Amino acid sequence: MIDYRNLIGGKVQPAADGRTLDSVNPATGEVWARIPRSGPQDAEQAVAAARAAFPRWSAMPALGRAHFLRKVARVFADHADELARLETTDNGRILRDTLKKDLPGMAFLWELAAGQVLDAVKGDTVLMGPDTLGLTRREPYGVALCVIPWNSPVSTFSAKAAFALAAGNTVIVKPAEQASVSTLRLGELLAEVFPPGVLNIVSGLGEEVGEALVRHRGVNKISLTGSTETALRITRNAGVKPMTFELGGKSPNIVFDDADLDKAADGVTVNSVYTGNAGQVCVAGSRILVHRPIWDDFIARIAGKAAGITLGDPLDLATDMGPIVSQAQYERVVSYLELAEKEGAERVFGGRYGSDVVPGDGYWVEPTLYTTTDNGLRVCQEEIFGPVAVAIPFDDEAQAVRIANDSAYGLAAGVWTRDLGRAHRLIRDLDSGTVWVNTFRQMPPGLPFGGVKDSGYGHDAVLEYTRQKAAIIQI
Ligand code: NAD
Repeated sequence: MIDYRNLIGGKVQPAADGRTLDSVNPATGEVWARIPRSGPQDAEQAVAAARAAFPRWSAMPALGRAHFLRKVARVFADHADELARLETTDNGRILRDTLKKDLPGMAFLWELAAGQVLDAVKGDTVLMGPDTLGLTRREPYGVALCVIPWNSPVSTFSAKAAFALAAGNTVIVKPAEQASVSTLRLGELLAEVFPPGVLNIVSGLGEEVGEALVRHRGVNKISLTGSTETALRITRNAGVKPMTFELGGKSPNIVFDDADLDKAADGVTVNSVYTGNAGQVCVAGSRILVHRPIWDDFIARIAGKAAGITLGDPLDLATDMGPIVSQAQYERVVSYLELAEKEGAERVFGGRYGSDVVPGDGYWVEPTLYTTTDNGLRVCQEEIFGPVAVAIPFDDEAQAVRIANDSAYGLAAGVWTRDLGRAHRLIRDLDSGTVWVNTFRQMPPGLPFGGVKDSGYGHDAVLEYTRQKAAIIQI
């Protein structure tokens, strides 16, 4: 059993009152690590440390900050294997994804942030008249609080902290209680990299230390990746603070009869709602909209692909799909299986869970597909966050767009077609932050990523962590 600790003011330390939370390996159901259950005292210390570090960090020439960010990129490259294994053990995301996709991407992302430091200090000059000069300045907010979820901790940590730091903010990261280990280990590795207080990491429960941080007047900016419910709670608690919210989704994957159907069947199963972290990804294409002429053929193709998915030990590189992250999330997913039956959706495959899927006490749900013609069902409207998809038929393009947009969410959408005009019309008409055409879940850094409607607003990139000031000079 390993005890992990917070990073506050450059020191790696336990919670002030010594309390801890158990971290459970979701593949086995066993407690394998302990993390600090921080409280208001730790929140107070972290904010004080971040505030104390802010004047020097923000006054440093931007290129000086880039030097620190590049050191983080090296830490990611040097410790990729260790961090990937910790994360996979902690949240069940398969090692093939954490090791081969996430970690190599992280070193690149910190390098990218290092390359953007100058964007954060660029302003405009506006000649308003012969004797009047306007100019704008970009400034960091101060202390940025980054609240992250459990499904991709290291990636979400980086997508926020790298850019917040690049812009000259000092940072407090609050990882999710279900999977904090990889982030806390990063804290140990980065303790020596930054001046004390520039980066702080505090674990614990959302409603305890999370809320204490959100309410703190010494926090100047909040960036949350999490659920819409948490965003609403933070909005009520934070007072007037600028926020970035990257929230949930119920993303449609729309397949037309002119698409490459084999590629599309891969796209809606692989790296999406099933092998994409057992559907525990914000952009999971959990509503599969299928053109009626290809309905039977395409449903059979999805079933064929799903049958080939190997569930099991997420640390085994041959495994395609791991467990659900926690007992609570597992129960939630299972409750949606029951709801789908009750609502009259028709099950095509799947539906089994627990030790019927993988022996032992892990949290397993097998890939499951329902069909319905009613997009109003709760299983079509609510985010399940598990390997459960619903397929819905449509007759024409207009109806596909109507069904796709009939959702409180608007995070992402997939379109599978060979018709270029149709692809562009759907990019225009879909109410969503990202539209993928003939691909799914490609998220290259450098393109904005964020949602509309209940999926949130704002993008985690360097300008998101700056505020603008105007100056008018009468010459
Ligand atoms: P969650 O909202 O329950 O928790 C997210 C974080 O918020 C955790 O660190 C949690 O401790 C903290 N938190 C909870 N209540 C809080 C409070 N009152 N004050 C302050 N902090 C609080 O989400 P989750 O279950 O960890 O993650 C799943 C959700 O995240 C899904 O809805 C998913 O779609 C979403 N998500 C979105 C993206 C994206 O980029 N859009 C990426 C990954 C996950």
